Amino acid sequence: MKTQIELARHGVLTTQMATIAQDENLSPDFILQMVAEGKIVIPWNHNRKPKAVGIGKGLRTKVNASIGTSSDIVDYAEEVRKAQAAEESGADTLMELSVGGDLDRIRREIIAAVDLPVGNVPLYQAFCEAGKKYGDPNRLDEEMLFDLIEQQCADGLAFMAVHCGINRYTIERLKRQGYRYGGLVSKGGVGMAAWMLANNRENPLYEKFDRVVGILKKYDTVLSLGNGLRAGAIHDSSDRAQVQELLINCELAEIGRDMGCQMLVEGPGHVPLDEIEGNIQLQKRMSGGAPYYMLGPIPTDVAPGFDHITAAIGAAQSSRYGADLICYITPAEHLALPTEEDVRQGVKAARIAAYIGDMNKYPEKGRQQDKEMSKARRDLNWEKQFSLALFPEDARAIRGSRMPEDEQTCTMCGDFCASRSAGKLFAGELRGDKI
Ligand code: SF4
Repeated sequence: MKTQIELARHGVLTTQMATIAQDENLSPDFILQMVAEGKIVIPWNHNRKPKAVGIGKGLRTKVNASIGTSSDIVDYAEEVRKAQAAEESGADTLMELSVGGDLDRIRREIIAAVDLPVGNVPLYQAFCEAGKKYGDPNRLDEEMLFDLIEQQCADGLAFMAVHCGINRYTIERLKRQGYRYGGLVSKGGVGMAAWMLANNRENPLYEKFDRVVGILKKYDTVLSLGNGLRAGAIHDSSDRAQVQELLINCELAEIGRDMGCQMLVEGPGHVPLDEIEGNIQLQKRMSGGAPYYMLGPIPTDVAPGFDHITAAIGAAQSSRYGADLICYITPAEHLALPTEEDVRQGVKAARIAAYIGDMNKYPEKGRQQDKEMSKARRDLNWEKQFSLALFPEDARAIRGSRMPEDEQTCTMCGDFCASRSAGKLFAGELRGDKI
């Protein structure tokens, strides 16, 4: 079966492309063209058929939520609840990143529990299984790795973060640099770097990139080029090792696209606000406009407990400058495995960030809802305000818990409600009947 990009190149508008055009209020021809050029990807899988979600140029910035067990906490039902909570809270995609318990079981249960496109990082299970089988993850052999990627794709994954860009060149950059304030923070990245050093071998995911592409193409799974050397500290941002990996990933994005595979490039990580725009420009320029998946970024290292907020600040910037998919961060980041409530908070914070970013990415259509909300606030039309709110139930619950004497107003100002007074002024001397 052909992939979305191959079909688009043959001028075939798939059902998924048509659905996305309708959802995003764009012309089907535009979606077809962008998919053909690899500037929009549609996480898909011939074996599963998830909800059609477009990621890329001209589209609303999408939000990914990541869930999964750890080696300390394995609760299958809880992970399923977290996946459903992410979907209910408005996540567009889901990553299943378990490293504890029966990894086949949890992947299949999560895929069955949601309609969202589900992605993963195959190296996690590969290193876990090599550790169990040989007592040493560095004894992972490449046949085992490729078999596992095939098996995971066959289960219905719509996108897969594969660490193809860590090669001998990137490791050499890291060695010559000789330091990292935040070390390495990608589990797949550090695992692959250790494997390469222990075995004195090239990364098989780089060396046999065409084999990776061949497997993912068979299912139309999007190949998301993982950012294994991403900075995990503000002071490591944009260092040579990270930029080297980005360069390789952009090169691979072009090769994979030419081979007819849908390609996504992953970005950092921890990045100060003033470096976000440059990072995105580099990625877009070097990859020929491949959709960019930013992990926030987190623009400060010093707010543990509130990293959903720090990441949202970074994500609003990254969305504004062209990131196409942003990964949520929860309040538990850097501290513990997230709870279901952490997942809900993380998705909501990321959705606000994506929305704010889109207000600048698409100034014409991205600000209409704000204009309507302003008018509803001015007119003290509470039901209209709730209908326009990103999270109506939360807004309704807060107001309902502290109702005012005069239901037109709220308990913030009560008798001194400025909106009510201004309404009277505009109805009289100021005349506000133009809008
Ligand atoms: S009471 Fe104050 S906060 Fe509430 S609607 Fe009126 S002006 Fe706004």
